[in-house]
Amino acid sequence: MRTLKQISGQRLGHFINGQCVEPSNGEYIDSLNPTTGKVWYQAASGNEQDIAAAVSAARSALKNPQWKCISQTDRGHRVRKLADLIHENREMLAQIETRDNGKLLRETMAQTTIAPDTFSYFAGAADKLEGSTIPLNKPDILNYTLREPIGVVGIIVPWNSPLYQLAWTLAPCLAIGNCVVIKPSEHTSASTLALMDLVEQAGFPPGVVNVVTGYGASAGEALTLHPQVAKIAFTGSSDTGKKVAANAATHLAQCNMELGGKSPHCIFDDADLDRAANGVVAGIFAAAGQTCVAGSRIFVQDSIYDEFLDKLLTRTQQIKLGDPTVEGVQVGPLAIKEQLDKVIRYVDIAKAEGAVLLSGGKQPADPALNNGWYFEPTLFAEVDNSMRIAQEEVFGPIGCVIRFSTEAELIELANASDYGLAAGVWTQSMERGLRFAREVESGIIWVNTYRAASFATPVGGFKNSGYGSHNGLESLREYSRNKSVMLDYSGKAQDPFVIRVKE
Ligand code: NDP
Repeated sequence: MRTLKQISGQRLGHFINGQCVEPSNGEYIDSLNPTTGKVWYQAASGNEQDIAAAVSAARSALKNPQWKCISQTDRGHRVRKLADLIHENREMLAQIETRDNGKLLRETMAQTTIAPDTFSYFAGAADKLEGSTIPLNKPDILNYTLREPIGVVGIIVPWNSPLYQLAWTLAPCLAIGNCVVIKPSEHTSASTLALMDLVEQAGFPPGVVNVVTGYGASAGEALTLHPQVAKIAFTGSSDTGKKVAANAATHLAQCNMELGGKSPHCIFDDADLDRAANGVVAGIFAAAGQTCVAGSRIFVQDSIYDEFLDKLLTRTQQIKLGDPTVEGVQVGPLAIKEQLDKVIRYVDIAKAEGAVLLSGGKQPADPALNNGWYFEPTLFAEVDNSMRIAQEEVFGPIGCVIRFSTEAELIELANASDYGLAAGVWTQSMERGLRFAREVESGIIWVNTYRAASFATPVGGFKNSGYGSHNGLESLREYSRNKSVMLDYSGKAQDPFVIRVKE
C-alpha cells in the first residue's frame, strides 16, 4: 500500500476498473493539511464523464462471472482478506487520515482498528443471507424468496471519518455482491485511494470497487443523477442529503441517508456527576466536535446546574489542544478552513442571541498553533433551546448548556429539534433511563455512556437526521433486494380468466 511519503506532493488519480485514471478534464484539487494549512497532495477533480466511466465499470463487473458467479463463501473470503490487509496497514492508514483531516492519531488508529472488524463481521455474514419459503393457501405452488445484490451502489462520504464511515457501507455491499462507486470528500481522498491498493491485493475483480474523487457539486451530483446507480448511500449534512434524495428520485434510486444531528445530552440530579462530566466532554469535544452524534445540547437539571457547570468548566479548561499526532494532545484542529469559519460565525450568533460565553470562543493564542485551523473548546451557558445555536448543527467544539426542571419538560425540550440522531442521559434511576429511551425521538440512545458504538449495532437517524440504517445485520437488507419466485407444480391447466383464490 502507498505510504504517507508516497502520497506527499503527488497528484492522485481516480480508481476506475482497477486502474489509476487521470481526470478527464485534467484538473486536480489541492488537499490541505489542517495542522499547517499547506497543500500536501492533489486529488483528481472528477466530473460527469469520470462518473459515467466508473458506473460503466461497476455495471460490467456486476456481470463478470468472476464476481457474479463466485460462491457466497468465496465472496466472504475476499472480504475477510480485505479486513486482514486493512489490519496489517492500519497504522499507515491512520497516519494518512490524520494528515488529511487533523483528527487525533489515537482516534484514527482506533477507527482503522475497528474498520477490519467491520469487514470481518460482514465477511462472516456473506453466506448467511437467506431467503424464505412462504406458506400459501395454494398447495401446488411453491413460493420462495431470494435476496439479491441491489446493483451499483454510489457511496458518498464526508471528511470527518472517511474510512470508518466507508466501512459501514462498503463491507455489507461487498459481502452481498454489489459493485460500488465511491465519492469521498474532496478534502479527504487519500485514505480511500490508499484502501484501493488493498482492494486490489484482496483479489476483487476490476470494477467491483471504484473511486471518483472531486467536488460534491460535480462528481457527487453526477453520481446521484446517474440512471444506472441503484442506490445512494449518503453520509453528510441534512441540506445536502435533501438535494441528493431529490436527484436520486429522478430515476427512483433508493437512498440510505446518514445525516446531521443536534443531539441532546441530559444530566439529572441523581447522576454520577463526575462520570457525566467526562461523558459530556467526550460527547462535544472529541474530534473537535466534528462528529454527527456530537452532544451539543447539554441539558442540566436546575438543582445541580451550578455544581455540574463547575465540573464541566474545569474539565473543559484542562483540555490539551494541539498537533493531533503528538502524544497527550486531546483535541486537534478543525478539518477544513470552511469549518473553522463556520464555528467562528456561530460564536458570534450565540453571543448576539444572549448566550453566556463561559469558556473558549476563540482561536488559541499559542503561536505554535497559528497556522492550523484550531479553535478552543467552547461552552455557552444560559442557552435557550429555541436559539439558533441550540437548533442548528455547528459541527465544531461548541457546547450549549440549557437548564431544565422536570423530566416531562426535558423530554419535550429534547424532542424540540428538527434532528433525531443520538441522545444521551445520565441518571442512577433505571426507570428514568428506560423512560427516556422510550420517549426521545432519536436513532440511538445512550444511558450513562456516550458515543459507544459497534459494527454490530444497527443505527440510523430520525427526522432530518436521515433514514435507513448502517451496521448490524440490518445492513444486509439495506444493500440487497428481495425477489419472490412462484412455481406451480400441479401440472394442471388453469382457467385463464379465473383468479385462484383458495384450493
Ligand atoms: P456535506 O453534506 O457538505 O458533504 C458530504 C459529502 O457529500 C461530501 O463528499 C461532499 O463532497 C458531497 N456533496 C456535497 N454536495 C453534493 C451534491 N450536491 N451532490 C452529491 N454529493 C455532494 O457534509 P460535510 O462534508 O460537511 O460533513 C459533515 C456532515 O456530515 C455533518 O452534517 C454531519 O453531521 C454529517 N455526518 C453524519 C453522519 C451520520 O452517521 N449520520 C456521520 C458523519 C457525518 P464535497 O466535500 O466535495 O463537497
